[in-house]
Amino acid sequence: MKVINQAAELTHAIKSLKAKGKSVGFVPTMGALHNGHISLTRHAAEENDVVVVSIFVNPTQFNDKDDLKKYPRTLEADSKLLSENGIDFLFYPTVEEIYPDDENHAFDYSFGGMENELEGKHRPGHFNGVGQVVKRLLEIAIPDNLYMGQKDFQQFSLINYMINDLNIPVTLRVAPIIREKDGLAMSSRNVRLSAKDRKQAPILHTTLEETKLFIDAFTVKELEEMAMNKFASVENFKPEYFTISDGYTLKDIVSVEDHDFIVASLAVWVGDVRLIDNMILKNDSSARLLI
Ligand code: AMP
Repeated sequence: MKVINQAAELTHAIKSLKAKGKSVGFVPTMGALHNGHISLTRHAAEENDVVVVSIFVNPTQFNDKDDLKKYPRTLEADSKLLSENGIDFLFYPTVEEIYPDDENHAFDYSFGGMENELEGKHRPGHFNGVGQVVKRLLEIAIPDNLYMGQKDFQQFSLINYMINDLNIPVTLRVAPIIREKDGLAMSSRNVRLSAKDRKQAPILHTTLEETKLFIDAFTVKELEEMAMNKFASVENFKPEYFTISDGYTLKDIVSVEDHDFIVASLAVWVGDVRLIDNMILKNDSSARLLI
């Protein structure tokens, strides 16, 4: 595995591989890698000749500076894991390398209003930062295929919108959520949970499962209220939202019959760690991005 810090060096290497007819798969991450990330690199390796992984804790997408400071950084273990998994290039740039002019120069982009739903109501500016960094990374890595996780449902939805809207020549591929044995969605932030909170955290997943099970027995509003009440009853849980939305527009829905692609999404503070998760409740349209 070749580790590259300079954007120009990566672009040069990728251009020469592409000139030789090699296809390139790209997996952007913020590091502290786990099996969720590795499942993306495996999909990328299956579908491409060359796999590029980036590790960049992007300051512009952190609306909470404390979260940025506490974000786990485990470069040594990450490099080991990536080389064991046959990754060709690790791109590990500095902030200056990604934002040479000024990291704060605003990327003022509207994702068709979808950025204002779900996470957008709680993390102002977050998706602008995500769009900014993904656009920049795609310019540097010029991949054929981009791999993202369903774990961040709104994120991949917005990136899909941006790719189509700006005509960025890349195919987005979305891989399923990888979970711990007890159902907790793998996340770099899980290591920050206390032992007690870690034990309770799978309630997020069981609540999603129950919602799916009862989708025809209750109204959308009732299901959302039941989930929020459940979270509120758990010690150390502070729910921000539990929302059932249309999987394409991310807008709240009233009735499941009127939509063929439906997702339930949540954000809950578990102790001082903010966790998100989601589950597709209905997919009659076989949404084509999903692997
Ligand atoms: P992050 O490092 O958290 O920015 O995540 C990098 C990529 O890995 C994103 O596309 C995430 O959606 C994806 N990812 C994170 N956790 C998981 C998981 N548990 N299962 C599948 N993909 C994941």
